[in-house]
Amino acid sequence: MIRARLNPASNVEIQPKAVVGVLLPLPLAGAYDYKLPPGVNVPRGTVVAAPLGNREVLGVVWGKAEGTVGDNRLKEAVPLDGGPRLPEKLCDFIDWVADYTLNPPGAILAMALRSRGAFEPEARRTAYVRGSITPPRMSQARVRTLEVAGDGLARSVTGLAEDANVSSAVVRGLVTAGALIPTELPEFAPFKQPDAKYAEPRLNGDQLAAATVLRDAVAAQKFSAHLLDGVTGSGKTEVYFEAIAEALKQGKQVMILLPEIALTVQFLERFAARFGVRPAEWHSDLSQKERRRTYRAVMNGEARVIVGARSSLFLPFGELGLIIADEEHEQAFKQQDGAIYHARDMAVVRARIENCPVVLASATPSLESYVNAQQGRYTHLKLVSRHGIAEMPEVRLIDLRKERDGPDVEKKAQWLSPPLRAALEKTLAAGEQAMLFLNRRGYAPLTLCEACGHKFTCPHCSAWLVEHKYKKRLACHQCGYELPMPSVCPQCNESGTLIPCGPGVERVAEEFAQFFPAARFAIASSDILHGPAETQGAIRAMARREIDVLIGTQIVAKGHHFPQLTLVGVVDADLGGSDGDVRARERTFQLLHQVSGRAGRAEKPGLVLLQTRNPEDAVMQALAKGDRDGFYEQERGYREAYAAPPYGRLAALVISGYDGEAVRDIARQLGKAAPNAKDVKVWGPTPAFYALLRGQTRERLLVQAAKGVDVQAYLKAWLAAIKVPASVRVAVDVDPVSFF
Ligand code: ADP
Ligand code: ZN
Ligand code: ZN
Repeated sequence: MIRARLNPASNVEIQPKAVVGVLLPLPLAGAYDYKLPPGVNVPRGTVVAAPLGNREVLGVVWGKAEGTVGDNRLKEAVPLDGGPRLPEKLCDFIDWVADYTLNPPGAILAMALRSRGAFEPEARRTAYVRGSITPPRMSQARVRTLEVAGDGLARSVTGLAEDANVSSAVVRGLVTAGALIPTELPEFAPFKQPDAKYAEPRLNGDQLAAATVLRDAVAAQKFSAHLLDGVTGSGKTEVYFEAIAEALKQGKQVMILLPEIALTVQFLERFAARFGVRPAEWHSDLSQKERRRTYRAVMNGEARVIVGARSSLFLPFGELGLIIADEEHEQAFKQQDGAIYHARDMAVVRARIENCPVVLASATPSLESYVNAQQGRYTHLKLVSRHGIAEMPEVRLIDLRKERDGPDVEKKAQWLSPPLRAALEKTLAAGEQAMLFLNRRGYAPLTLCEACGHKFTCPHCSAWLVEHKYKKRLACHQCGYELPMPSVCPQCNESGTLIPCGPGVERVAEEFAQFFPAARFAIASSDILHGPAETQGAIRAMARREIDVLIGTQIVAKGHHFPQLTLVGVVDADLGGSDGDVRARERTFQLLHQVSGRAGRAEKPGLVLLQTRNPEDAVMQALAKGDRDGFYEQERGYREAYAAPPYGRLAALVISGYDGEAVRDIARQLGKAAPNAKDVKVWGPTPAFYALLRGQTRERLLVQAAKGVDVQAYLKAWLAAIKVPASVRVAVDVDPVSFF
């Protein structure tokens, strides 16, 4: 577990001279000294406008001045009107994250200052109410308008015109005549307040026990960490809603982190059903205006519950009383570009700093959280069965080495084995729904020339181009490069020689349609070529039973509840199992377990068929036997034996740039300069998995350290030894979760 190290600067007294350190939201080494206007003295966190070169930037008073700049050369930073201020604990959190991830604090501050407009005085809008004057000339339209305005509600010109069904000219005429009086309203209507008692559920025994622990923890108003570990459909959401209700009763704010925006729509509705209103949202799809409104409402306490992506971590909550990270095992919580951090881990840190509880929820916890719970650092709240009468589905393995169409079969399948087809037939005949899962987008992952062996690869990345048959294009899934599907091989100029290799979801769908021409199906894939609207459309069609079969990538694996879905077929369960990274097994297990969890969520029992070539594999066996904890124990044993996380620590350096020679040179220099330290091993440099990505060459070094090692200190000493030219970037990834 990560331990909070509070920054000593947190309790600064601003000097009488009023020269202060101001942190700017830029990747600079630290705070810069500025003087405040005469007679002004403000605390840490105060937002200021600060001159920098010939522009003005937003900054935050961070602490005492460094004293490195002569008094006469100091520039003046001016606090913004209305004195907006980041909560002190948020400043502490920013310092902590910067320290831990080895990023400059300004780079972390930039994530907390995502809405400049939020600090400006709130805009006002003019609205009109009925005055006492009635003009002498009254038309029908005027009478109607004044009648409507008579209800005392303030409306804009267009709003009133609409409500009275008149033209805006009529309304403006009445304004000129003095019959309508202007009044100023805030730019936005206030957020509606969630009601803790709106629709309280009746919890079952397990749920009640878990909810009681969480309610007590919230009421205690101090740090505690909880792993809410329950099978899919056991009611984890219902349980943590009780913790939220308690926080609302305590007058506290709540932060809910979800791994993907795609999951929020259903979540918002579910929240509204429980608390009467939707929570406020925070993610990258918000408009500037919504951003400003929400940021301000979090800062002034008007927004009580925020649900959002990992960037919500840096919002200026002043009264945070509870943090929840749902689907805590998800890799999407790790931010990979810019400042690299893990939102789940940082949620625990923020809870520590805020002195409030944090709840991590999952049906397949990360091994880290599992071990933390086992060792008592987190309480382990278990929900062992599905709510109501739903049972966990039966999971069967299909051994692809045996279960193939024989030579005597007339119509052979490439991807759907005979037992899977039989099960599909049965399900469709019973009027139930099925899902086919393959974690690969597009039609085929590789296109090959039969004549000369040419493989289509991306010119900017070390990646194959993926065929998208419906769009008739080849696309790179790393950088988005695309080209129309060629008819001639660019290497040997033969035509008709290009063949697709391997399946993507589109190809599975094609085969499905050949065998089940009458079945209604849709493809759901998170894709540059299938937009989010199309994906949501497919999922909605499934929920409304407008289709019988949903064929999809991991986008269909999580969170969805389809009551009539009784069969899940996993087309290739072995995918992703062998890429040599320590978390590959854990990830495969989690994904397949989540997919399986879609089946049989209502009265009818579910069946899951996993097609595999390694039926003896531990992951497959654990899934087939429903022995999750057995798998975790075995995996825990491996990690312990190899001192892998959470029994040891990892950090990666990724060196990248457009000048491949310079990148390899710096990587070599870094490799040679690695300090010798007890219990630290350095591997590499080696080309990264994507040795070329978006045109940049990439090399990696991996640090493996024993648990007690101060990895940050080690990395700092190491990086200080090398001078890196501006054309090369060295990104530090503390606790890497993937090795692309
Ligand atoms: P999880 O988050 O563990 O997957 P959910 O909270 O989504 O589980 O619950 C699964 C389904 O069961 C949901 O439709 C939910 O509304 C329902 N449910 C769970 N607990 C209860 C309860 N105590 N009373 C009524 N419905 C419940
Ligand atoms: Zn060719
Ligand atoms: Zn590419």
